Amino acid sequence: TAPSHLIGLIGANVAGSLSPLLHEREAAAHGLRYAYRTLDLDALGLAPDHAGQLARDAARLGYTGLNVTHPCKQSVIAGLDGLSDDARELGAVNTVVIDMHDRGPRRGGSGAAARLTGRNTDHTGFRTALLEGLPGAALGTVLLVGAGGAGSAVARALLDAGAGTLLVADAEPARAEQLAARLAGRRAGKPAGNAAAADGAGRVAAVVLDEVPTRLAEADGVVNATPIGMVGHPGTPFDASALTSRHWVADVVYRPLETQLVKAARAAGCRVLDGGWMAVAQAADSFELFTGRRADRARMRAHFLEL
Ligand code: NAD
Repeated sequence: TAPSHLIGLIGANVAGSLSPLLHEREAAAHGLRYAYRTLDLDALGLAPDHAGQLARDAARLGYTGLNVTHPCKQSVIAGLDGLSDDARELGAVNTVVIDMHDRGPRRGGSGAAARLTGRNTDHTGFRTALLEGLPGAALGTVLLVGAGGAGSAVARALLDAGAGTLLVADAEPARAEQLAARLAGRRAGKPAGNAAAADGAGRVAAVVLDEVPTRLAEADGVVNATPIGMVGHPGTPFDASALTSRHWVADVVYRPLETQLVKAARAAGCRVLDGGWMAVAQAADSFELFTGRRADRARMRAHFLEL
């Protein structure tokens, strides 16, 4: 018989998330018994610092995996038994794999113990999105606007993908400086994967937000990892009139897919990666961790665009 999967999404205001449909439709195509439920902090009346306990409670209730979103990607770590190298480095978890270990004879009533491991598919997702959605994009110099959770994952992905120089800007300059310093201090050899490409030394610098339009002159591409452009946050994160057709533009915002930045970039003739690519790719990577099955990313993107 097919194994059962019960997946939860921990976060605030996740009632309208597309993740349940995206995961369940892919699972159905694999013939899996797979249910994906939201564990909404607001609906449960819980504070974000309760996320770790909520993850453990979910494991006890039979959940076999979890996704974690805003504002719980850091706070969930308190409830986990271990972290993958990349999740530890990013200090953020968006996926929890739950393994059950038999604690010995049932007779003693001990039953099975859950081991919860935190992973991060935001950075692997952005990397895949970039490679599949913008194949061959020049990565000599890349501008990243937004140095929060998504920005950290995108920065790591850009370095792993081979970006020569990464310039980071944020409305809070200290955030850009901290991210740049963290990445610059990262040495090849420790984390798994493409260690040489992952080395950030000499490749990352913080820049002032006001400089972004002029810095575009030396950049091949630019990524928005701020919330600007999403529903309730209109506008563009920088003056998009400096974009020219030789730039590629990526947005992590996916509600709406056609952000003002994406529209401006298309109008300027740029190659564009909308935020749906990352949303689908991180979901596909999580699906694979939960099920051990290979997700069909093109099918998932097609599903996503229908939702
Ligand atoms: P966050 O709060 O951790 O970080 C946002 C950063 O943007 C902060 O450092 C903030 O100072 C900065 N910022 C805000 N306004 C700015 C502006 N006008 N100019 C420059 N910097 C500005 O948030 P986050 O978790 O990183 O999420 C950011 C966006 O990414 C959200 O819209 C979220 O939905 C999206 N996201 C998308 C995916 C995906 O799979 N596509 C995954 C994660 C997050």
